[in-house]
Amino acid sequence: MHHADPQREALRLRTLATLRDVPDFPRPGIVFKDITPVLGDAALLRDVIAAMVAPWLGEDITHVAGIESRGFIFGVPVALALGAGFIPIRKPGKLPWRTMSQDYALEYGTDRLEMHIDACPSPSRVLVVDDVLATGGTAGAACQLIARLGGDVVGCSFLLAIPVLKGRARLDGCRLETFIEV
Ligand code: AMP
Repeated sequence: MHHADPQREALRLRTLATLRDVPDFPRPGIVFKDITPVLGDAALLRDVIAAMVAPWLGEDITHVAGIESRGFIFGVPVALALGAGFIPIRKPGKLPWRTMSQDYALEYGTDRLEMHIDACPSPSRVLVVDDVLATGGTAGAACQLIARLGGDVVGCSFLLAIPVLKGRARLDGCRLETFIEV
């Protein structure tokens, strides 16, 4: 946490006020955190990207891995700011070249992510980026894929975390930075 910085705290409050809660999307009982009003505000978009970048300056990140789809939106500007390349981590069947896949558990059933086998040759220092950390299943699977393909996962960066879902527990051993917790 960085509550000591008044500018950062003002930005956190402005972002919280701009995020939109959409109840019962995509299913009854889920409160969806809609980031599109943040994306649509030019100054806010610039400032939240800078806030997601700041903790990783000086970490020699070589690649930012973004998780489909909203991780792509935040991942590319973060990569540009860090002087890093970008790796798309995608849903099954989307990547054209040879892939490695990783299954992970959902509340009911399983899901799968894929990555190109040559995306993070060793030595790569990879930062995982997504919009929301909920249960951590998705980001955990992304970290496993990167490690299996020879990359070092330096950490994970999220705009927003929902701590009650305990996503941090599924990312242990990895540095985690979240701009906002709700
Ligand atoms: P997780 O449970 O951490 O694996 O989250 C799964 C994916 O769904 C992540 O990519 C999140 O961006 C997204 N997600 C999960 N819960 C929410 C929510 N309440 N609002 C918006 N996105 C969510």
